[in-house]
Amino acid sequence: MLKLASLVERDSEYLAKLETLDNGKPFKSAIGDMYFSVKLIEYYAGYADKIHGKTIPVDGNFFCYTRHEPVGVCGQITPWNFPLLLCFLKLAPALCCGCTCVLKPAEQTPLTALYAASLVKEAGFPPGVVNIVPGYGPTAGAAISEHMDIDKVSFTGSTEVGRLIQQASGRSNLKRVTLELGGKSPNIILSDVDMEFAVEKAHVALFNNMGQVCVAGSRTFVQEDIYDEFVKKSVERAKKRTIGNPFDGQNESGPQIDQTQFEKIFELIESGKKEGAKLQCGGGRHGDKGFFIESTVFSDVQDDMRIAKEEIFGPVQQIMKFKDIEEVIERANNTHYGLAAAVFTKDIDKALTISNALQAGSVWVNCYNAVGPQAPFGGFKMSGVGRELGEYGLDEYTEVKTVTIKLPQKP
Ligand code: NAP
Repeated sequence: MLKLASLVERDSEYLAKLETLDNGKPFKSAIGDMYFSVKLIEYYAGYADKIHGKTIPVDGNFFCYTRHEPVGVCGQITPWNFPLLLCFLKLAPALCCGCTCVLKPAEQTPLTALYAASLVKEAGFPPGVVNIVPGYGPTAGAAISEHMDIDKVSFTGSTEVGRLIQQASGRSNLKRVTLELGGKSPNIILSDVDMEFAVEKAHVALFNNMGQVCVAGSRTFVQEDIYDEFVKKSVERAKKRTIGNPFDGQNESGPQIDQTQFEKIFELIESGKKEGAKLQCGGGRHGDKGFFIESTVFSDVQDDMRIAKEEIFGPVQQIMKFKDIEEVIERANNTHYGLAAAVFTKDIDKALTISNALQAGSVWVNCYNAVGPQAPFGGFKMSGVGRELGEYGLDEYTEVKTVTIKLPQKP
């Protein structure tokens, strides 16, 4: 695994170029994804000789211990927004637990996973341990989730497909299922914040990766006394966002992934306008070719509008107004999703009150998208099942076996 990490590091520039070519994300971000991938593999490589059970004092004259055994063959299905990073986020914990993998990358972005397969070979993994199998979801993906000889499926993608995977497990061999799904994450800005800092963080929380991030801060709740100024500054920031060729280091955003997403985003922008949200900037195509979308900001967004409820997965920021903490907690939790949330405030009591009350797998205080290899990540409610990353992520790749041995009678 350490050899694999060093090979990914060696070829990171090539891999990042391939990722940008395939996905459209800015080259700078793709390099960041490669750095994260190397860290992930190194982190889990360190666990390979540290996964062990316990000896347990039990009633009676027995010696009892547990073994954490590999769960077996793991099917892994990934989306297109962080193609290689999510590929290693699934392979690395499985491999350090001693599992084998059949990974299906998203059809839009299979190139880096295929190249990674050549690095797996070069690193010296035995044949058959890592299998990269591109193909469409309803065929290749469904074959994995229905397969009787696959012991576990780890899926990252939409809630809709997550349901299908869990159903397929129930229909087939009750394979273990972990799901990392969608979100509509609240980002709560209290009135005591440093305005410039909070505006910038809220901007990046949404516009990073062209809005195609499961944890995107897509419901920005701003306290009423700073609301107007926050909206004004957010619009100024969005208008300054540079969009264009993702290989040009000046550009913060590239195109959306494909035509389907491009059209879906415009459909939701139209619904926002129709339902009475105020379009402050953007809302149209950027340039005249490619799937580039202007940085879009809506204010006066109400909780029952589609843009406040549905995952847009595009560069569209929704800014909502709230009065007090009780109100914003209730509204933030009023969703089927529960992937992430954030609160910006200088008041530690308020930060703790809000973060304890939010129903989300990750809560960030005065930061956003602070995800790394060491800390667990996953969703409450319909944002997922199970956890990835950190030591918690290992639980999903082992079965616990209890061994109990009868001891001789005491003399
Ligand atoms: P998606 O449509 O659910 O696709 C994800 C993967 O599932 C793709 O590889 C897809 O194959 C495959 N798939 C589709 N139908 C399938 C089926 N019937 N059985 C098995 N596999 C099937 O999601 P997406 O549009 O690629 O990605 C966007 C979604 O992912 C968003 O909802 C986002 O929030 C979520 N996401 C979540 C996380 C997280 O960690 N929670 C991270 C990133 C993204 P194809 O190649 O044919 O598309």
